[in-house]
Amino acid sequence: MKITKVEVMVLRMPDSEMMKVPTNLFSTTEYLYYRDGNEEAALIRIETDEGIEGIGELSTLGTVVESVIHAPPQATWWRGWDEILVGQDPLEVGYLWDRMYRESGLYGGRGFITTVMSGIDCALWDIAGKYYKQPVYRLLGGGGAGTATPYMSFSRFGKTEEEIIERCEKVKRSNYRAVKFHNHPIGMDDKKALKFVELARNQLGDGIDIMLDAAEHYHDAKEAIKFARGIEPFNPYFFEAALSEDDLDGYAKLSDATSVKIAAGEGQTTRYLCRELLEKGKIDILQPDTNWSGGITELMRMGRMANDMGRLLIPHTYKSYVGLASNLHVSASLPNSPYCEAPTSPLPLAVNLTNEKIVPEADGKIHLSERPGLGVTLNKETVEKYRFVW
Ligand SMILES: [Mg+2]
Repeated sequence: MKITKVEVMVLRMPDSEMMKVPTNLFSTTEYLYYRDGNEEAALIRIETDEGIEGIGELSTLGTVVESVIHAPPQATWWRGWDEILVGQDPLEVGYLWDRMYRESGLYGGRGFITTVMSGIDCALWDIAGKYYKQPVYRLLGGGGAGTATPYMSFSRFGKTEEEIIERCEKVKRSNYRAVKFHNHPIGMDDKKALKFVELARNQLGDGIDIMLDAAEHYHDAKEAIKFARGIEPFNPYFFEAALSEDDLDGYAKLSDATSVKIAAGEGQTTRYLCRELLEKGKIDILQPDTNWSGGITELMRMGRMANDMGRLLIPHTYKSYVGLASNLHVSASLPNSPYCEAPTSPLPLAVNLTNEKIVPEADGKIHLSERPGLGVTLNKETVEKYRFVW
């Protein structure tokens, strides 16, 4: 089997459907009130000469991706990936990962280029599953059950007690057994944040895990440590993104100072950068995303590395069910991945991009589809309606 075409598909809500974002915002929290990141979707579609196609999602500015794939060559080490991929056997997933990484070293390395690789890698795994007629988790060699446990992820904690109570009610009505709250007031008004954490614990009882995400709002470790110690009595499952991921010393201090598990790494790409967070930052939980951190291939390597060090890998994700599926296949295949994030975006490019919906069953788990590959198919109507040509 040979790869015949690599296509970048960008889907985008028309401007008329988008919330207008004021220009004077100063924080992620405020921005999230207007945009949650699912106003646009970027997909890689790979075709083969045997008629098998693969799909992979990536989280980035979709319109920037095209040039990486189709740039005309300048030299062996400066060329679009059409030349690396077309004509190759798509089943050689690890080999192609290494080639893309090595041959883009001079203009890529561990940033945006790894994101593009991520979408390609997920599409190649989708093809491999379809070729071998197996769901991806089975090819990854994990346990045979094919289940992963999602946690519901609210991009905002809430502004008022009523909002917190409403969100807790939503969790209790669902099959989810864990929930994460992000952002304000964590790291901005910690007195209020502690009250909200206590309120959430009282609302949810002890049977539902609570995760907290500061979205890097702390500027120094001491403030983050104060908050971490404050939430200890409410037994949160983890405390995420307290500090900038560059502050490895800060993470090490935070990790040493609290009994709460420290999570970070959603912004990282490749196992090389994640290893620093584990070794120097001493974090307990690594949170990469198949849609930008290096794809399924790299997350499996990261997961095994974390496992060898006695740490956990809990994938980050916030896009459509294509992206969620690729993260779930990884989570289902690792012995040290007790949870996987599950987004709550209501936007059509998150919930209507695929014909399938992926939600937990009564046991709190997602039972992955037995369909070959990633197990998701694109919804033609959504693709036609939102296809963006630039
Ligand atoms: Mg996060």
